[in-house]
Amino acid sequence: MSEIENAPITITVDDIANANQLSLGCPICGNPVERYVTDPNLVPVECADCGTLYHRLCWEQGASKCAMIGCTSKRYKLYAEETSAVLTISTTDLGRERTAPDKTTKKLKEQERQVRDELYGRSIFRIFFDWLLRQIKILD
Ligand SMILES: [Zn+2]
Ligand SMILES: [Zn+2]
Repeated sequence: MSEIENAPITITVDDIANANQLSLGCPICGNPVERYVTDPNLVPVECADCGTLYHRLCWEQGASKCAMIGCTSKRYKLYAEETSAVLTISTTDLGRERTAPDKTTKKLKEQERQVRDELYGRSIFRIFFDWLLRQIKILD
């Protein structure tokens, strides 16, 4: 008797479609209503009264009312998944707690500012000096 360990798992496009499927068929077009769609027209919406699932475009083109017999609703809402938090992250979960800049940081920033001022000042001086040189050339 042979036993296959860790047999490879194959996920097909159909598996994904099944996992995403919310209802077997939209009452208007008959195609499955799925979550996680990229086409905004295919976003799942539900009748506000009976909860029947539709594609958004199908509801809007289907006389803008519920197609279910006995339901007269003209309102729909976007289908929403459970909205409770699946993961909560606090600052302590992050690698480093956020603290006020320490003295070293302040000193570095001060140095940076001084260097920048120096460079800026020098460049202004340089412009003036170049201008002065040009004046001298003209006079020469
Ligand atoms: Zn549809
Ligand atoms: Zn309805």
